[in-house]
Amino acid sequence: ARGDGRSCVRFFEPEMDTHVERRIQIERELRSAIAADIIEPHYQPLVSLKGERIIGFEALARWKNRTLGCIPPDVFVPIAEETGLIHALGDQLFRRACFDANAWPGTFTLAFNVSPIQLRDPTLGLRILAILGETGFSPRRLELEITESAFMDNRGVAKAVIDELRQAGVRIALDDFGTGYATLSQLLSFRLDKIKIDRSFVSHLDDSADSRVIVRAILGLAQGFGLTTTAEGVEDAAQLAYLVANGCTEGQGYLFSKAVPAADIPALLHRESGR
Ligand code: C2E
Ligand code: CA
Ligand code: CA
Ligand code: CA
Repeated sequence: ARGDGRSCVRFFEPEMDTHVERRIQIERELRSAIAADIIEPHYQPLVSLKGERIIGFEALARWKNRTLGCIPPDVFVPIAEETGLIHALGDQLFRRACFDANAWPGTFTLAFNVSPIQLRDPTLGLRILAILGETGFSPRRLELEITESAFMDNRGVAKAVIDELRQAGVRIALDDFGTGYATLSQLLSFRLDKIKIDRSFVSHLDDSADSRVIVRAILGLAQGFGLTTTAEGVEDAAQLAYLVANGCTEGQGYLFSKAVPAADIPALLHRESGR
């Protein structure tokens, strides 16, 4: 399957044994992938835990490279951040995602990840609003996922961008909650709509009393502040039952579906409606 661009088994060329060489090659390939607009969003369903219905999708970047194979976002997003390529990559992924999301039922949400580095750019808000205008996708159906670190560094710029977008009707979700170091008061100085509970807590609900306490505490906190909650990485029915019993409003994870290409969404929705 070597070099056919379809196989995702191979990760890196074996002869590239040093980290530095590999990193340089990925960076070079990343530049041309962005120039050619070939990194594409796939979509993972967001499921309402009341009635277990799909209510939207999170866009997750997927890059299949001819020589390097499939490179996961955990590898290329940090490189894009370090090199400043994240701004161009973020814009093109967002444009693609808005076009794709226009084909979904009109009530569905598009959740899109925004890197803390993107939030250092004071023009981000304007560019997002411009892409919404250009694609005709409603800001009210958009939810931006932001991690805690964005709330710590460069708070002035991030806050201004977030305020601008919220005013246009965009919702803000705090991603990976519980893994960062922001204080509660730092977080509360931003207006949030949703908290996403990190997968590391959800995956240990069955074997860690600490994880259960933390998840219950986060759910209580969110309820107190009137925020919705999404549990990430829900993989089995026992996790789902615990989350529902403790008032979690939404879930996401392999129990429902992994991220799928845009073209597979009609079949996914058809299968759901036939349930
Ligand atoms: P994230 O935003 O926390 O995304 C959730 C990750 O968990 C995704 O990994 C998803 O595929 C994975 N996941 C979902 N459900 C399950 C499950 O049940 N079990 C397990 N084991 N994993 C599950 P992915 O797609 O590899 O993305 C990794 C990270 O890369 C994302 O974490 C996000 O921080 C970043 N990322 C992905 N796409 C983008 C993008 O378009 N822009 C930016 N800035 N970052 C992105
Ligand atoms: Ca996310
Ligand atoms: Ca997350
Ligand atoms: Ca994450």
